[in-house]
Amino acid sequence: MDKKLQDQIAIITGASSGIGAGVAKAMAAVGATVVVNYPVDAAKDMAEAVKNEITSSGGKAIVYKTDVSKEEEVKQMFADTVAQFGTVDILVNNAGLQRDAPFTEMTLEQWNYVLSVNLTGQFLCAREAVREFLRRGISNKSKSAGKIICMSSVHEVIPWAGHANYAASKGGIMLLMKTIAQEFASKRIRVNSIAPGAIQTPINRDAWDTSAHLQNLLKLIPEKRIGQVEDIGNAAVWLASDDADYVNGTTLFVDGGMTLYPGFVDNG
Ligand code: NAD
Repeated sequence: MDKKLQDQIAIITGASSGIGAGVAKAMAAVGATVVVNYPVDAAKDMAEAVKNEITSSGGKAIVYKTDVSKEEEVKQMFADTVAQFGTVDILVNNAGLQRDAPFTEMTLEQWNYVLSVNLTGQFLCAREAVREFLRRGISNKSKSAGKIICMSSVHEVIPWAGHANYAASKGGIMLLMKTIAQEFASKRIRVNSIAPGAIQTPINRDAWDTSAHLQNLLKLIPEKRIGQVEDIGNAAVWLASDDADYVNGTTLFVDGGMTLYPGFVDNG
């Protein structure tokens, strides 16, 4: 029997580490050919390691350097992917970063940098993906003409003191995602977000690197465990598959209950 994403071409941004690497491996394991995007030469070895893990398990992957905040680089990544594989079926808009500062000390550079990668990067990649989905239309690989998964965060709804740029970027992703979904649902393009809670990756190392930090973090998570990249990989595979064919314009929270106001648990 065909695997869930058999022969579908998936571009996954920021896939040399963390959640992106986890999603790349999960999608490749169910038959997708994966473009492991990374932003700078320094991340190339990590991207190659993700690719090698996929190919040594019988999957298909290439690595591709692109800074998602650069319009021409994004266009080139899509053009080269289409030239090599014929099309793009799935975009996972995952690349993201933090530059934290108390609000009164946040520089314009910190603000612009986070918005340019986390929000403008998602816009640029989604626009190229939708252009390709419209060009190709529905193929025999999926009921949809194309799928976009935006990696948001619980901070698309939970305010986050000291992280105004990051929270603003994730709040922006929510309505960017819903608007694209609304605009192209009639073309059978599905656009959804995943909002991870606390997932154990390099981006939040200082939240779990000591037992004291981890215990503090777990107070925010009703399930009392930190998430793993496989939790997000599983959700992404489902959202991209035809099993989720009627799911469009929604955010799937994968957070062990972090958005359930855990502070109320002990207050009765
Ligand atoms: P991570 O730091 O391991 O991954 C981020 C990736 O983005 C890195 O591989 C990095 O190289 C890449 N990247 C950075 N700038 C880029 C650019 N300009 N172009 C292309 N790639 C670029 O951290 P992660 O936790 O895996 O984060 C992945 C996504 O998940 C981010 O969007 C993050 O906001 C989101 N997220 C993570 C958590 C968590 O708890 N880990 C929670 C909510 C949301």
